[in-house]
Amino acid sequence: MTVEPAQALEDRRTELAQLSAVPRVQRKRARIDRMVPFDTEQGRQRLAELLRTAVERVPYYRAFAGAGFADFPVMGKTELRAHFADLISRDPTGEIGNGRFFLNQTSGSTGQPVRSLTTTSTGGMANAALHERLNRQLGFPESGTVLNLGLLYPDTPLFEAVPLPRPYVKCNLRGFDPTSPSVVADYEAVVGRFPVDKITGSSSRVIALARYCAERGIRLRPHGVVASYEHMPDSGRQVVESTFGCRVTMLYMTSETGYSAWECPERRMHFQDDFVLPEFLNEEAGVSDIALSSLTSTPMPILRYVTGDRAGPVVSCGCGLPGTAVESLLGRAKTGFVGLAGEIYAPWALLAALSAAGLPDFQLVQEEAGWLDLVVPSAGPRPAEVLTDLNTRLRAAFQPREGFQLRVRAAGGFVLTDTGKRNPIVQRLALPAGPERSGYV
Ligand SMILES: [Zn+2]
Repeated sequence: MTVEPAQALEDRRTELAQLSAVPRVQRKRARIDRMVPFDTEQGRQRLAELLRTAVERVPYYRAFAGAGFADFPVMGKTELRAHFADLISRDPTGEIGNGRFFLNQTSGSTGQPVRSLTTTSTGGMANAALHERLNRQLGFPESGTVLNLGLLYPDTPLFEAVPLPRPYVKCNLRGFDPTSPSVVADYEAVVGRFPVDKITGSSSRVIALARYCAERGIRLRPHGVVASYEHMPDSGRQVVESTFGCRVTMLYMTSETGYSAWECPERRMHFQDDFVLPEFLNEEAGVSDIALSSLTSTPMPILRYVTGDRAGPVVSCGCGLPGTAVESLLGRAKTGFVGLAGEIYAPWALLAALSAAGLPDFQLVQEEAGWLDLVVPSAGPRPAEVLTDLNTRLRAAFQPREGFQLRVRAAGGFVLTDTGKRNPIVQRLALPAGPERSGYV
């Protein structure tokens, strides 16, 4: 780093004060504020407007004039890719409408990347409003400093002044990696050098930060931690909450729909139905596929979009927060394990067993039927005992010549997606067709 972190932080604070006083920024802030309160009636109007735009302006939906919401087709990633051009809203002359468009691109963790279009005045503002809604529910300070461990672009600066939805200096860190000298240098330069009000990032990176702080006796006291959805084992959550002395809130967002749901104090996920309307399809034993409609996505309607994630049953939550609540979010569909005889197992029982055994942070990689490679951080607890015990229980649960066993892969050898996201399960085998077995341990 060329500038001292303390000075860089001070410079960004000055910049932030200047930015916040710009009339255009103030007008945007006022607009965001009006969109923050949960508004079911506004949601209804947004949906009606979205469907009207879809049939009038979007070639792909022209045939659905007069159709009700449930008559519109569900859309998977494959369809979104295949019909990209036909899904863009056009004016009567066939031109794409005015406005600053930007392209969202997913990590492609489930295969090919998916792209969707949005504009700053629609998707950007809706996301800022939801971000602010979350800030208010969690009671974050009006301005402050956030340590961000989310996915970063290659040229993201270490410090950034971000005026909206509320003025924060963002300190952007990569996931901790003891083998990367530049990452180590960044952590030494900033972690623990100044107070932080908020910590955000993917679950695995937040857990790694907590461990980094705990091992070095660094005391950070943020008001809260917001972890974007990636399976966070209970044991990992305990490490984060006890290290930072505050609650973790899980946030569910997708590249196509932005902020979509987050956890309430009862640890149920509440969808923000007035901006992102959820549906729960193909229910089987209480678990459904999540489909989302982004109600402000008029430049390119994201309607009934099947995200590939699954959710536990819809419940009525007594916490007082609005929005459709589900008992749990279960992550990506079709991440089963393949047994020796080619049978398939749902992963949840094993994930829970590993968490219960006290492993805060792990990844499972399957490259061979009947074997799962367990990857843990090089600095974490050694899993040998856990493994012996679990393998004994697994052997007892499976029929002869069926099931799987665990083995340890070289520590720290995590498999990352192209954008650096670490999925809890990496399945290299093609999953055979057939029902998933569960409750095996
Ligand atoms: Zn609730």
